[in-house]
Amino acid sequence: MKRIGILGGTFDPVHYGHIALAEDAVREANLQEVVMIPARIQPFKQDREYASGEDRFNMLALAAGKNDHVTVSKFELEQESVSYTYLTLRHMQEFFGEDTRLFFITGTDSFLKIDTWKNAPELLTKYSYIIGTRPGYRQEEYQEALERITSAYGTEVISMNKTELDISATQIRQMVAEGEDISNLVPPEVNRYIKEHGLYRV
Ligand code: ATP
Repeated sequence: MKRIGILGGTFDPVHYGHIALAEDAVREANLQEVVMIPARIQPFKQDREYASGEDRFNMLALAAGKNDHVTVSKFELEQESVSYTYLTLRHMQEFFGEDTRLFFITGTDSFLKIDTWKNAPELLTKYSYIIGTRPGYRQEEYQEALERITSAYGTEVISMNKTELDISATQIRQMVAEGEDISNLVPPEVNRYIKEHGLYRV
């Protein structure tokens, strides 16, 4: 059985929090590969505060470039509309084949809301989950969600209490807009790309 991780997000921009999440998942759950999938952003959100799909993809490719276990997929960017996770996972399952177990990787904040996502029963019965704790989340709230979900669906969930990095893309966009240094929050190649393309300078 192959074990593949899927890490979706807006990655606007990708930062060390995302990379640590992917690397911890590879190690903790014995994954062969993590596929990072940037989401298509609503066209109305695409002004200078946000980066285009192409820029977000390029930054991810730079960040993943040095890592043998991490790849980047254009699947959601190439869809005509904003795509649902269940459609992306169906596609990935078909792509990797039935002898592959897919692990959807999220931070605690996203997992808390997962049973409200479209086709939640399908998501929670067909796939496994790897959850990376994120600073600011409430332990009891997470335990409660975990119990509710595992008892309703029998979902396999691997909780990782590992590298906690207090980094968000929102914070990075604000810092760039204010001319602050982000070199300890993103890989050097990503920092250079942001500068060269004048991203997030509102
Ligand atoms: P924004 O600030 O723009 O909302 P973000 O930093 O939360 O962005 P996303 O692209 O929304 O980044 O995140 C993709 C996935 O990575 C989500 O599952 C999120 O929970 C997780 N994640 C993001 N930052 C961290 C972090 N510092 N530690 C652990 N998980 C994280």
